[in-house]
Amino acid sequence: MTWVRDFLFPPLCVVCEEEVVDGDVCEGCWREIVREVLFEHQVFFGFRVYSLFHYGGRVKDVISGFKYRGFLQLAESFVPALAENLKTEGIDLIVPLPLHPARRRERGFSQTEVIARLLSKEMGLPVRRVLFRWRYTKPQALLKAERRKENVKGAFAHMERLKGERVLLVDDVITTGYTFFYAASELLRAGAGGVVGATLARGRV
Ligand SMILES: [Zn+2]
Repeated sequence: MTWVRDFLFPPLCVVCEEEVVDGDVCEGCWREIVREVLFEHQVFFGFRVYSLFHYGGRVKDVISGFKYRGFLQLAESFVPALAENLKTEGIDLIVPLPLHPARRRERGFSQTEVIARLLSKEMGLPVRRVLFRWRYTKPQALLKAERRKENVKGAFAHMERLKGERVLLVDDVITTGYTFFYAASELLRAGAGGVVGATLARGRV
């Protein structure tokens, strides 16, 4: 009785919440999402960071709006391509960039952990929460570029020692790269042999 359910609860696009004929994402949203796809990495402070999308349009709506189903749909559809790009990096271990616990409660879920888990499944690599965030930093997006560096300096510490593993540090969005830089530096201090980054999206500064 699918038609009865569809009549009472027409399926909605997980991105724009308009009615959708087939699938979870409407055609218009897919077209716009695909337009944001990136394939190359970018170097931030000497670290290679691979991102799947430009942080713009519908991709930005989904990520900044913490739309859980839309986010999961984006991540599940595109993480395999990200894993493919990372094959040559010789990664041993995946580490999600931690949110402060208070911020995590605010948002309901950690987008970074979702991406880390999907990458782990795809690449057959373990996820370990090596870092913790001991300062409640302001959201970087609300700060001017020159304030962002001070905001995240010293925000991370490590909870265990590493033994030369090459780490994939995962975040949802990278913009100036300061947050990534301080977290990656902390991983090197913990004993990582190298750090490469993966994010769902890359913003323009
Ligand atoms: Zn849509």
